[in-house]
Amino acid sequence: TKIFADRIGRIEVSATMAITAAALKLKSEGVNLADFGAGEPHFSTPRHIKDAAIDAIEKNFTRYTNVAGIPEIRKAIVDRHTADFGSAYTPEECVFTTGGKLALFNAIQVLVDHGDEVILPVPYWVSFKDIIQYAGGVVVPVETNEAENFRLTAKMIEAAITPKTKAIILNTPSNPSGAVVSPEDLEAIVRLAHQRDIFVLLDECYVYLNFTGNIVSGGSFKDCKEHVVVLGSLSKTYAMTGWRAGFALGPKAIIAAMSKLQSQSTSNTASMVQRASIAAVSGSQECVAEMRADYIKLRDRVLEGFKTIPGLTCTVPEGAFYVYPNVRNFLGKGGATSATDLAAKLLSEAHVVVVPGEAFGTKEHIRLSYAVSHDVVDEGVKRMREYFASLG
Ligand code: PLP
Repeated sequence: TKIFADRIGRIEVSATMAITAAALKLKSEGVNLADFGAGEPHFSTPRHIKDAAIDAIEKNFTRYTNVAGIPEIRKAIVDRHTADFGSAYTPEECVFTTGGKLALFNAIQVLVDHGDEVILPVPYWVSFKDIIQYAGGVVVPVETNEAENFRLTAKMIEAAITPKTKAIILNTPSNPSGAVVSPEDLEAIVRLAHQRDIFVLLDECYVYLNFTGNIVSGGSFKDCKEHVVVLGSLSKTYAMTGWRAGFALGPKAIIAAMSKLQSQSTSNTASMVQRASIAAVSGSQECVAEMRADYIKLRDRVLEGFKTIPGLTCTVPEGAFYVYPNVRNFLGKGGATSATDLAAKLLSEAHVVVVPGEAFGTKEHIRLSYAVSHDVVDEGVKRMREYFASLG
C-alpha cells in the first residue's frame, strides 16, 4: 500500500534549512565559515524579554492557556499595531501563533481550497510556494523587474487576477530581495483586492526593518479590513527566532477559524513565550531602533564591499537583512552552471554560506543574510572577491 498522503509529496524541505545543514556539517569539522545563510538576527534577545520569561517560569505560569493566546498578549499586539500603523483591530481579531510561519500556514489552510489560485510575487520567500501547494492551491507567480529594484505594482497584480484568484501574498520588506512595496502601491493593491473580493495576506515579519522611514501596514487601510490578513512575527523584530512567537490580525471569522485549526494542532504558544512577548511589544522599543540602525550600517558595508567585486551587481535593499546579488556573470565558469552550483562552490571552495536563488524563484541570484558581525561581512566579501577573481 501507498505510505504517504499526496499532500506531503507536494512540498520540499525548506531550501534554507538544507544549506544550513551542509554548513553545520563543515562547521562541525572545524571549518571557519563566513555564514550568510541563516535568516536570523545575530543579536541576543534583549534582557527585559528574557527576564519576563524567567519570571513567568518562576511564578509557575507553565500551564495551558487560551488557544489563541492569553487576553493580555492579544491586547498588547493589537495596541502596538494601532500605535505604530493606525490600524483598528480588537483582541478578538488577533491570534497568537507558534511563529509567524504558523500564522501564514494556518491562514492559507483556512482560506485556500484545491484549485484556488494564489498570486505570489517573484522573488518570493521559499516557504510561500510550499505552504500554498500543501493546501492544494495553485501558485500564480508574478515577475518583478530587477532593473526596477524588484518593485511590485498594483498593475502587475491586476494582470494576474482570474476568476479563480483567492488570495494575494505580499511580503514587504521582502525576503530575499529587501524590496519594499511603496505605501502608494500597497494601498492600491489592498483596494484592488477589496474591490475584487480577494484576500491580501501580508507577511509583515520585516515591517520594523523597513529603512525608508515611510512605513504602513496592510492593516492601515481600515476600510478594506475585511479582505486583509496581517501576518506578524516577533522573530526578527526582537531577535527572538528560537522562541516561536508570531501572530495574525484579520477579520474575526478568519481569526476564529485559524484558532479552531490551532485548537486541533499546536494549541497555545508556550505560556512563558507569551509573557516574554508581552514584554517585547509593550516595553521600550529602543532595542528595535538600535538593531535597525545596525542593519542599515551592515547593508551599506556589504554593498560597498560588492562594489569591489567585478561582475557582481546588486539592487539596493530598502529593508529586511538580505542582499540578492545577480551572479549571471559567474555562471558557466569554475564548473558552476546554476546558482545552486555556485552556492555549493562558494561553500566548499571559499567557505562562504549563501542560499541559491532557485529557492526564491529566480535563476541568476544568490541570497546573503547580513545579520552578522561587521567582521564577518568584511571577511566574507573578501573571500567572495578572491573566489570570483580566481574564475578568471
Ligand atoms: N516570513 C518570512 C518572509 C520570513 O523570512 C520568515 C523567516 O525567515 C518567516 C515568515 C517566519 O518567521 P517565524 O520565525 O516567525 O516563523
